[in-house]
Amino acid sequence: MKRLKDKIRTEGIILNENVLKVDSFINHQMDPKLMKEIGQEFASLFKGEEITKVLTIESSGIAPAIMTGLELEVPVIFARKRKSLTLTHDLYTAEVHSFTKQETNEITVSRKYLDSEDNVLIIDDFLANGQAAIGLAKLVEQAGANVLGIGILIEKSFQPGAEDIRKRGYRLESLARIQSLAGKEVQFAESKEMVNQQ
Ligand code: 5GP
Repeated sequence: MKRLKDKIRTEGIILNENVLKVDSFINHQMDPKLMKEIGQEFASLFKGEEITKVLTIESSGIAPAIMTGLELEVPVIFARKRKSLTLTHDLYTAEVHSFTKQETNEITVSRKYLDSEDNVLIIDDFLANGQAAIGLAKLVEQAGANVLGIGILIEKSFQPGAEDIRKRGYRLESLARIQSLAGKEVQFAESKEMVNQQ
């Protein structure tokens, strides 16, 4: 998605070879127009699928997920992150190790909001090792529901998550795919983009 890639080029800050900061348009301040276009893009990519719910994880997934849900006219659920507690009978739960925070959280969704009739589109801001997306897929599967696909804003293709997700048989759609952050430079996966960048 060109507009997202342009924003990454102009406003993304490369913290190190593995981490890209996008606080000015996704992770702290948000760009509503861009989010709206992202919602339209996911709705168009998954057109024809009978999606009944969009599922994301708090907090940075919520904006793109709600815009996608708005386009698809379906409810949006965000999984909550919390420290392990014992009362889990009314919750679906999965463990997720956070790439950026280096801590393990339990993510939860109330059993009220997902059931075996649901066809779910999972949305998240970044894909690194795939922990968040796979954790969300586990919640869907605990409900006996179906994962129709996983939509990611920024995939770091040089990290293992994308391959892991595809190997598990999920359909993955990433709007921007980064091949490398080495040398303080963003290199997108598609070679055409790299040419245009110069
Ligand atoms: P994964 O679970 O795929 O290892 O990591 C995805 C999660 O970690 C995302 O929900 C996102 O919050 C965070 N994350 C991973 N890599 C980055 C990054 O380079 N920049 C930012 N801002 N967040 C990231």
